[in-house]
Amino acid sequence: MNENNVKNVEIEGSESFRDSLGIVEKSGKRKWVYPKEPKGRFTNARNVFSGILLIVLFGTPFIDINGHPFMLFDIINRKFILLGFPFGPHDFYLLGLTMITTIVFIFLFTAVFGRLFCGWVCPQTVFMESVFRKIDYWIEGDHRNQRRLNESSWTGEKTFKKGVKYLIYFSISFLTANMLLAWIIGIDALEKIVVAPISEHTSGFMAITLFTGLFYWIFIWFREQACILVCPYGRLQGVLLDHNSIVIAYDYLRGEPRGKIKRNEERKLGDCIACNECVVVCPTGIDIRNGTQLECVNCTACIDACDNVMDKIKKPRGLIRYVSQNGIKEKVKKIFTTRVIGYTIVQVLLLSLLTFFLTTRSEIDVTILRSPGMFYQEQPNDKVSNLYDMKVLNKTFDQKNIEVKLLNREGEIKILGDNKSIDPQEAALTKMFILLDKKSIATMNTPLVIGVYSEGIEIQRINTSFLGPVEKKEHVEEHNDKDDSDKKEDHK
Ligand code: SF4
Ligand code: SF4
Repeated sequence: MNENNVKNVEIEGSESFRDSLGIVEKSGKRKWVYPKEPKGRFTNARNVFSGILLIVLFGTPFIDINGHPFMLFDIINRKFILLGFPFGPHDFYLLGLTMITTIVFIFLFTAVFGRLFCGWVCPQTVFMESVFRKIDYWIEGDHRNQRRLNESSWTGEKTFKKGVKYLIYFSISFLTANMLLAWIIGIDALEKIVVAPISEHTSGFMAITLFTGLFYWIFIWFREQACILVCPYGRLQGVLLDHNSIVIAYDYLRGEPRGKIKRNEERKLGDCIACNECVVVCPTGIDIRNGTQLECVNCTACIDACDNVMDKIKKPRGLIRYVSQNGIKEKVKKIFTTRVIGYTIVQVLLLSLLTFFLTTRSEIDVTILRSPGMFYQEQPNDKVSNLYDMKVLNKTFDQKNIEVKLLNREGEIKILGDNKSIDPQEAALTKMFILLDKKSIATMNTPLVIGVYSEGIEIQRINTSFLGPVEKKEHVEEHNDKDDSDKKEDHK
């Protein structure tokens, strides 16, 4: 069948599916989806991948490096640990840059690979398809039995099955809520909440209750509506995808015109035998043969269902497959379009910038500024002092001792108080005097270079200035004038 004919079939076949949702009845009521359990190589691969992701999700909070979490997203106290490295409010510019880089990456990734993330990585899909729906099949049976059970009146069997299912759903939601909290506050803090009386950790207890309730509600009732009605990433697909993006698509050139298979009759139709297997497995209730749709979460169930059918009728697999619209139409795999090249250049630039900032990021930040509103102080033994504010930010997990030295001239530094030792992840503000010999001051503004040392290693050099006595300057000028006039006298 040529392409024009296919287009006509599509138009004649009506685009009405674009005006409705597969999960909503014509009357506006929700249509509960009972997808058939998918089986096949993609489902197997996704099960394994989901298992790995779940291990990472539940296992990471238990990883400890030198007494600190491996990963922590403490948004409440604005403390973050990524791969064992601490980040705090002072690293706000890094957070901003990381967010911009991530957004560009999402644009780039989606432009090339469509909603691959939704099907394989998104926690909603992982939990819904690889955990909770599997529990449905295990307790209530296949999709037909599930429908029958839901529509039947309450019997002993129904009460038992539903009771067990709700209990398991609740337990997993409770565990997930604890895990989420462990990512935010750390596993040690979570342990304290779990073992101590509720009255000592009211906010922690409320957070666990809230998250448990939310997860339970999403997975027991809200389900696929989260992807179709709420997820902002799903809504953005219309602008992120183009005809070269790889999506899960039905090869209409190969499949149309579709029609039932008849025994002992030479087939003049396309490869789609209108068995509807790809529709009954779809967890969002759509027919992928209508084309790419917002509801499709790229779960691969329809690929497996159709491949199984193709195996049975001895046709090549891949009538539904990962392919772009242009890939179907022109049989080419063009990935690097002008848009993708543009995104890639921006992405590389952002990643380079981020890498530069991360690799040059200091563990201790020191700023030294002359105290505002202060001039200079005359000191005994013909010395002059300036008062400075020193701010030290310790970004590490360890206590740090700081030393400062004058590098470009003779002088003395006196730190006031006992504030040279800085606590981990803390900032300390201290005052210090710098004393110079009056004789050595030749100008009103003397440039100083201060070396900052931690554990004997120079970590920073700071340029500042020292205000000297004006009289000295005048004295020096007078002295110079006197020298000049003496020279003139000698010359005479
Ligand atoms: S599973 Fe394949 S053959 Fe069956 S209706 Fe879907 S596309 Fe056609
Ligand atoms: S159309 Fe296919 S890939 Fe998309 S959600 Fe339905 S079954 Fe999953």
